[in-house]
Amino acid sequence: MALRHWLASALVAAACAASSAGAQRSPPAPATPRIYVLENGTINGLDPALFNFRREELEQVDFVNMAYLIVHPRGTLMFDAGAVPDSHFKGDGSPVVEGVVTATKPLLPQLAAAGYEPADVTYFALSHFHSDHTGNANEFANATWIVQKAERDYMFADSPEGIIQPATYAALRNADTKVLNNEDFDVFGDGSVVVMATPGHTPGHQVVAVKLANRGTVVLAGDLYHYPEERTTGRLPTFELDPEQSKVSRARIEKFVEDNDAEIWIEHDIATHAALPKSPRYVD
Ligand SMILES: [Zn+2]
Repeated sequence: MALRHWLASALVAAACAASSAGAQRSPPAPATPRIYVLENGTINGLDPALFNFRREELEQVDFVNMAYLIVHPRGTLMFDAGAVPDSHFKGDGSPVVEGVVTATKPLLPQLAAAGYEPADVTYFALSHFHSDHTGNANEFANATWIVQKAERDYMFADSPEGIIQPATYAALRNADTKVLNNEDFDVFGDGSVVVMATPGHTPGHQVVAVKLANRGTVVLAGDLYHYPEERTTGRLPTFELDPEQSKVSRARIEKFVEDNDAEIWIEHDIATHAALPKSPRYVD
């Protein structure tokens, strides 16, 4: 009898230890939303002509590749997934060079530094399917994937063409999916994190507007723009899928920015991200 009691309480204690170890994995939910900025490296040697610029018209020609973890009191949203899968890193600290992309930091350790694992991520969204944004998308197939129908259709077409690496996101095919029909989605239901449809660069490009208590409203702009100079000149990349649609999307976001006194973080912009704290620090 005594032994049985001892066994039972030992088992209960072990179960409690296991569950509290699990609970320790993700930090307590914050009172207000925050954004963790994750860096994946750079794209170098781009031809400005691809973006309808001459070299001397641009402050910076190179890109940074970023991703963001948005933590809300009711859950988390991972936005974009880097350019290079973590599995391509050798683990000896050396960068991974693939064509014009140089990746200096794997993504998941930066999530872990903030206290999160992919299993803790509630929602996953891509700005768009270009391969410099989908690197680690497969890691988030257990989250609910928020995607525009036109984008998803393109991604899972028989032979999608362009800047695309279907193997990096193949696992999303069977993910729980929130399919949007060229529409916005209020992710946590309180208006503080909204995925906004901005087609043009790709069929279902999207940005995320985040209302932060201290910083104000931030638009994570994906590739709505690549360079700040596109905002001032109105120029579009040469490889835009639907330039007219892009102009409409840009105008819509610029109006949103004006109405909400928001700032735009252009995902590839070096200057924007040089000024931001990186995970495990955050912006709130
Ligand atoms: Zn891009």
